[in-house]
Amino acid sequence: MKIIRKIKSMQKLSDALRAEGKTIGFVPTMGAFHDGHLSLMQRSVKDCDATVVSIFVNKLQFGPTEDFNKYPRQLEKDRKMAETVGVDYIFAPEHDEFYSDSFSSFVKVYGVTENLCGASRPGHFIGVLTVVTKLFHAVKPHKAFFGEKDFQQLVVIKKMVKELNFDIEIVGSKIFREKNGLAMSSRNEYLSADERNKATIIYSCLKDAKRLFHSGEKSSLKIIKNAVNLINAQGFEVDYVKIVDMDTLKDVKKIETVALMAVAVKVGRTRLIDNIVLK
Ligand code: AMP
Repeated sequence: MKIIRKIKSMQKLSDALRAEGKTIGFVPTMGAFHDGHLSLMQRSVKDCDATVVSIFVNKLQFGPTEDFNKYPRQLEKDRKMAETVGVDYIFAPEHDEFYSDSFSSFVKVYGVTENLCGASRPGHFIGVLTVVTKLFHAVKPHKAFFGEKDFQQLVVIKKMVKELNFDIEIVGSKIFREKNGLAMSSRNEYLSADERNKATIIYSCLKDAKRLFHSGEKSSLKIIKNAVNLINAQGFEVDYVKIVDMDTLKDVKKIETVALMAVAVKVGRTRLIDNIVLK
């Protein structure tokens, strides 16, 4: 498996693959792989002739007080893990080539970025969309694979791709969880054993919401209150608990047939997100 560092080299390689008639699958990541990442890679390897995985901790999507500096970086370990699932190339661009000192071009999608993480993390989605655009132009994939764990990110990227005519198919993939239900995340590494244990309340409260909904409760307010109480009882700070329309990501008061329940919780100093479809 090859590691590619330069944008030009990546573009040349992709041009060559395309000239050979090969389909390119792409999995953008920030590294520190877990089974959730590997599941996206496996899908790409199955669906496409060549799979490129990018590893880039994108400073642009972190707020000034967030964890950019301490975000786990483990290229060699990641390379080995990606190799086990048949990934062909890792694209690990250098920060300075990606963002020059005079960098001043940004991508913004309105509407679907305003609620949930967009409200809690100002500028986050501009950072995500700008890096994803740059990565797409470097890798030139036919298909790109994203996890539903970052549901808002998936919706926002799909909208950008559609509205700005990127010729790329965006594929969403289900959330991978630990045996105890905790959604896998590179940030779980920050948790103590006790926090990791207690953080299972996040998925429990989502499952509880589903149970309430299935037993006839349609009021978002009541379902949200129940979840907030459960999270607070564990001693965690709620960033948000919301029930939103699956497409617009706007709050819904009464759930008709389907909605997304999304949560962001501060477990100690670690911010974790998760979601479930109420259907
Ligand atoms: P990250 O490295 O955290 O930026 O994530 C890279 C990709 O992996 C994104 O598309 C995420 O949505 C996806 N991902 C992260 N965690 C999970 C998970 N637990 N299950 C499925 N996909 C995930």
